[in-house]
Amino acid sequence: MMAKVLMVALVGLALVLAAGLLWSPAGAEGKVDPALVEGMKLKGEPVMAEAKQDEMVHVRVLTREGKLSEIVHIPKVVKTDEEWKQILTPEQFRIMRSHGTEPAFCGGLLKNKEHGYYLCGSCGLPLFESNAKFESGTGWPSFFQPAAMENILERSDMSYGMVRTEILCRRCDAHLGHLFNDGPKPTGMRYCLNSESLRFVADADLAANGEDVAPAKIAKAVFAGGCFWCVEAVFEEIDGVIDAVSGYAGGSAETANYKDVCTGETGHAEVVEVLYDPAKVNYEALLRLHFATHDPTTLNRQGNDTGTQYRSAIFYADEEQKAAAEKLIAEMEKDKVFSGKIVTTLEPLKEFYPAEAYHQNYVCRNPRQPYVRGVALPKVEKLRAVLQGGARE
Ligand SMILES: [Zn+2]
Repeated sequence: MMAKVLMVALVGLALVLAAGLLWSPAGAEGKVDPALVEGMKLKGEPVMAEAKQDEMVHVRVLTREGKLSEIVHIPKVVKTDEEWKQILTPEQFRIMRSHGTEPAFCGGLLKNKEHGYYLCGSCGLPLFESNAKFESGTGWPSFFQPAAMENILERSDMSYGMVRTEILCRRCDAHLGHLFNDGPKPTGMRYCLNSESLRFVADADLAANGEDVAPAKIAKAVFAGGCFWCVEAVFEEIDGVIDAVSGYAGGSAETANYKDVCTGETGHAEVVEVLYDPAKVNYEALLRLHFATHDPTTLNRQGNDTGTQYRSAIFYADEEQKAAAEKLIAEMEKDKVFSGKIVTTLEPLKEFYPAEAYHQNYVCRNPRQPYVRGVALPKVEKLRAVLQGGARE
């Protein structure tokens, strides 16, 4: 992808369009094979739709010990505007429920240096920990990472002629602020918050804000199919997928970073770890989706991306996953689903290493980036079209 970035800088849209035409990203035939994804469902529109009362979310909450919990499966908090108005101040309502922004340097939590958690001002979900807070100089409370990725919903925000990433509370859809990629180490990210969207709870009071929880049943699968931005974006679409995380697998811990992996000499592949709810979607279905949305017939290459780091691979966690992958590949070879031979490797998963923060949710955060527009989004659109009979807005 380094070459990609250079190309983008040098030649812009014309070449990208050409690249899009040259590479049929979704499967060898340039389309998502409906037979392979039969029965799969898209996630509901994540926010701003009529949230259903019985909708569930996977998040981390505070426990009775005042710690962040394992991922739990709990109901979404859904209220009418009238109901929100009864528990929020007019300013909180304007910001959290109507996507407003507080004036810079005015928020009450800007200078707070106490240790504790910042909870959602609407529903109390823990969103940020004080040890990730930093002085950004912008006039808004700023954090370099959330307390839990699961608790923050990201959405492309095209308002005011800008492309920004809006951040919302996963449990109640409250508007929190925006996300920028000019933050400090270790993530390089800046989560820019409204004080009004947050409620600070100091360490001593965390346990009193805790709840009884039971960890959710979560299964994992790791797939490689070229650039992880694209693979992640595809899996994020699917109902039952709790999270898809870009990362590396196949090499050692020392080289599990983007710079080293780009050399193609580390043994790592760019992979995506898919966390899913086995009650909603099974491993076989995810395998079929993986084959439907990348080209498993090109050795160490996806489209214009070449090198062993872009190989097609399935990193199996146990013998059961391995057997399922072998069975599906044999079936697809027999049915000649692809015109060429399937070269996908089956490799034991030793360790999954999450990629750098700026690679996560890349497609959502960078919808106008030329590679995203030319390659990743068309792939997602094809999948949506097949699963829904039309692209989703
Ligand atoms: Zn909330």
